[in-house]
Amino acid sequence: MLTELSNGQRSVGLGGWPDRDGIVTLDAAVMLDDARAGSVAGVRGVVHPVRLARWVMERTPHAMLVGEGAQRFAREQGMAVHEPPLDDEQRARWEAWKKEGRYAPVVNVENHDTISMIALDAAGTMAVASTTSGLAFKMHGRVGDSPVIGSGLYADRGVGGAVCTGLGEAVLRTVGAHAIVEMMRMGRSPQEACEALVHRMIERVPGSHDYQVGVLAMDHAGRVGAFAVQDGFTYAVADAAGNTMHRSAAALQLDGSIQRAMKVQQRP
Ligand code: ASP
Repeated sequence: MLTELSNGQRSVGLGGWPDRDGIVTLDAAVMLDDARAGSVAGVRGVVHPVRLARWVMERTPHAMLVGEGAQRFAREQGMAVHEPPLDDEQRARWEAWKKEGRYAPVVNVENHDTISMIALDAAGTMAVASTTSGLAFKMHGRVGDSPVIGSGLYADRGVGGAVCTGLGEAVLRTVGAHAIVEMMRMGRSPQEACEALVHRMIERVPGSHDYQVGVLAMDHAGRVGAFAVQDGFTYAVADAAGNTMHRSAAALQLDGSIQRAMKVQQRP
């Protein structure tokens, strides 16, 4: 199992940083390698949005429910829905942010970190999932990559799966996870596919020195790949040997230079 690590409790769940209107909205998704998928976006007051996403997959003919409709579905299915007021820390950070009120969809280590997972069982079945409160102080209604099948996560039987974290707009604009899986289908290793996607993103989405995206991939044989736009992306691997933490390689180094060995890439 491959997991992106959260840097704290403020990037996921009801304790996450609110949007710019002071409202916490959650996004989550799950996908199986046989193309079953479910997701929720902009849902409020639900403790485990990824379970709700799974219920969308299992209990509806749809793949995605958003906002009020997702919340109503949760209630109908007996899931507790309760929107707690912002706690002191959430309110203080939001009040501080409002003083400047600058909306810049820039990701740094404090304002993001989705939990995304790739799981492969002994029978060779793969599942991917993600859950997030999205970017801190995002516009109300903004949806990132995490609940979008193909962008934040994707899995295909016999090929593998991929998940992304970081600036959702950059991932959406490059359809990150699906692109990685397609590159694996064409013969690239998980690591090569992750690196190729990140370099493609840096080429296509300007401003890479100001954003972070980290990507993970696993093929159907269990080989792992990880790469990031910037240094500092960590992830965990859990297998029969136990749990290990890893620091991903990155395209841009902390001093702002582009890692040379990685820069020489054939354009995918
Ligand atoms: N990808 C998420 C989003 O854009 C943010 C994150 O990874 O923390 O909503």
